[in-house]
Amino acid sequence: MSRYKEELNLAADLIKNASKITEWFRKEGFQSFQKQDDSPVTLADYASQIFIISKLKEYFPEDQIIAEEEDSVFVDKKAMEVIMECYNSLNLEKIGNIKKIISYRGSPSKRQWTIDPIDGTKGFQKGLSYAIGISFMVQSDLCVGAIGIPNYDERGKAIFVAEKGQGAKSSYGENDFILIKVSNQKNLNKARFLHSLHYDQPWTLKFIDIAGITNRIQMDSMGKFCKVADGTADIYLRPINYHPYSWDYCPGDLILREAGGKVTDFNGKSIKYENEKCLLPTPGFLASNGILHSEVLNIINKNDLFEKI
Ligand SMILES: [Mg+2]
Repeated sequence: MSRYKEELNLAADLIKNASKITEWFRKEGFQSFQKQDDSPVTLADYASQIFIISKLKEYFPEDQIIAEEEDSVFVDKKAMEVIMECYNSLNLEKIGNIKKIISYRGSPSKRQWTIDPIDGTKGFQKGLSYAIGISFMVQSDLCVGAIGIPNYDERGKAIFVAEKGQGAKSSYGENDFILIKVSNQKNLNKARFLHSLHYDQPWTLKFIDIAGITNRIQMDSMGKFCKVADGTADIYLRPINYHPYSWDYCPGDLILREAGGKVTDFNGKSIKYENEKCLLPTPGFLASNGILHSEVLNIINKNDLFEKI
């Protein structure tokens, strides 16, 4: 029985509207800024986050919010006008103090939402793949995940949702949601392999070589989880050499597992989340259709491909 139907429906609805917001900026143009950690952020990231937080605050005022964009220093008067223009042209409800909303996080609660208003900002800037991700946890246990990918494939935009124990679904174009399942690919050398376009590590190529993989695609964003979840791809390998955050991985982790796949660190352990922290004992993780999982982990560990921490 669905326990978090309300949360799931809200997450799907927010993803749908946030995708309209980010696409509005992609068409109309957007300002980009450099954050303190040197990563990029755009006005579209802020507009998407402000919208999502304001709705979560309205529907679940007691819940805690964990969101990526902290600093509102870039959102000046001119920027606020552009954000309002976007909301108006999409007929979205008026949002009170939009600058204040950026840093609204609610009070500490066992009910927590994570928001990545644009995942793959570099991809977004270049007109490539990007995603919007929302998840909902109760006591750090993933209960709901939703991902929107405005330019998924030839079918156009896609929305992926999952609720713990209820399977994963996706909607392509404007079509109804359908249940999705991972592939049943058993042969590693025939596997379709995904890795990051902008944040990869050189040892991924070494792995590909040893595994005899010939079909590989590099793309940005958590959309890679979705491609494995709906059987478009079979393996997503992600080395990480920076501090991972929960908003980057929570939605995809749940969606892929609910579609029958597996997501673990390189020791085969599931990823744990604690507020904004993604507790990953190894420098990266593996997401797969499940069937190929142990074979890939064996190759990674036997060949000492990653640096132990
Ligand atoms: Mg982001």
